Amino acid sequence: MLARNKICAVVAAVQSDPMRRQLQLALRQTRTVELRLDWLSDDREITHFLKGLAAAKLCGTFIATCRRREAGGRYPGTIAGQLFHLAEAIQAGCLWYDLEIETVSQCPPELLDVLLGEGRQLRSAHFFQRMPPNLKGVATALMRGRRPEAIKIAAHCHSLADSLKLLRFARLGHDIVAIPMGDVTLPVRLLSLREGSALTYAPVEHPTAPGQVSLDEAKTVYRADKIDRQTRIYAVIGDPIGHSLSPIMHNAGFQARKMNAVYLPFLVHDLKDFLASIKFLGIQGFSVTIPHKESILRYLDDCDPLARKIGAVNTVVVRRGGKLYGYNTDYVGVMRALEPRIPLRNSRVLILGAGGAARAVAFALAQAGAAVCVCARRTARAKSLALAVRGQSIARNRLRYDFFDAIVNATPVGMYPRVTQSPLETAELNCRLVFDTIYRPRETRLLQLAARRDIQTVSGLDMFVAQGAAQWEIWTSERAPIANMRRAVIRALQREEESRTIVRTRR
Ligand code: NAP
Repeated sequence: MLARNKICAVVAAVQSDPMRRQLQLALRQTRTVELRLDWLSDDREITHFLKGLAAAKLCGTFIATCRRREAGGRYPGTIAGQLFHLAEAIQAGCLWYDLEIETVSQCPPELLDVLLGEGRQLRSAHFFQRMPPNLKGVATALMRGRRPEAIKIAAHCHSLADSLKLLRFARLGHDIVAIPMGDVTLPVRLLSLREGSALTYAPVEHPTAPGQVSLDEAKTVYRADKIDRQTRIYAVIGDPIGHSLSPIMHNAGFQARKMNAVYLPFLVHDLKDFLASIKFLGIQGFSVTIPHKESILRYLDDCDPLARKIGAVNTVVVRRGGKLYGYNTDYVGVMRALEPRIPLRNSRVLILGAGGAARAVAFALAQAGAAVCVCARRTARAKSLALAVRGQSIARNRLRYDFFDAIVNATPVGMYPRVTQSPLETAELNCRLVFDTIYRPRETRLLQLAARRDIQTVSGLDMFVAQGAAQWEIWTSERAPIANMRRAVIRALQREEESRTIVRTRR
């Protein structure tokens, strides 16, 4: 067995001090650590770091990597220099060394025996451009000559289909490490251990390959080392998806209820590629976000009538036989955010925007008995939405002379990074309540202007948590731990806001 702790922390820095700090952080989360010696600035720094490692006598399974530039690493030296440092690393306490096939093929096995014989060899092949067409052929080449103790294939995958080929390959043996690289592979990396990969890599600080999840996230958000065959898999699909707080929210819900379930973000450029992977990965349900909320409809076997009316689906349940059933919980989110605050029946509500969120808001309000007014920069879109909910469209220049029970912003105006913008001016805020669907930042410029006029304000956070909780309940048939989910989202938003402040002050 390569290592008992299968999440391998990647420690990589240009100087030995930060490298040592990363190592200490890594050992708090896992006992398996890859030391990227090739990241260190020069030969002296590598030797300096390894001397410190030897003196520290740390307990863990360390894999030394000193990948040469020719093989995609950062080490500028010769093969002799590479082997010298790997030998130093073994003397310093590294049980394993990673040696790329390019080096192996240029070294007599006897030389490797003499220099590195006390260590265990993880022989690796990297394909930075695309998947090799013949994985078995690659494996055979890796096993040629004196057999390594474990092999690793890392390949750039342009699609989920490619990355699943690698996972299937990992099922063939015990000591095979399968590493799909690339933006679309993040969830597959996390699921690779379940499929039999001997390791998955997670950087402590700097990503060393595209698609990596940080060690902290892998352990605390996704609990990647706990994922097994019984784990229920849920997903969110979108493009982009990196900004989504849904994984933090849903996983906090699963952890609070001690459920063996995980929720993973999928960057999906091509819906068909994702849909084809559902069966293999065992996905039981997924959230849908921009830009797939409308296009997903044509792939569903059935759909909640209201979601069909809205024309957008943000929640899919995978039923027996792989049948897909769609819902729209943005609708529920709007209701849960507004209903406790104002009586909606017979109220008059202005919606700004006529896109996907505006449609969910408009149908929710109309269903609750509100008179809906729509104001959007494209009049035709505003009219069409108003017609669909038996409301009226209203021109922007009328707003300062009109009064509403509530105003809902369903445009992205004011969303991070354009936080100083507001979709309306103070004179146009003639209402009792303002609800901004934006939740980054939590307090938008629009909400600030409203608060200054003593108007009640509701943040998009309420809708976000409510729509997420509704999804969670649809999938699990249990009551969602809303307080835990909300707390996790607020904490993440606070962290984001703090790091933005730090960046601003540094500038
Ligand atoms: P969308 O489908 O792209 O619709 C955006 C709408 O805003 C369109 O009507 C668009 O007009 C209008 N718009 C865009 N930029 C504008 C500008 N500069 N001035 C005036 N109007 C502008 O997007 P969406 O999915 O509805 O999302 C809209 C907002 O809702 C986002 O900020 C999102 O964060 C929020 N949202 C929140 C939640 C939640 O749970 N809190 C859920 C979903 C969405 P055109 O058609 O002319 O481009």
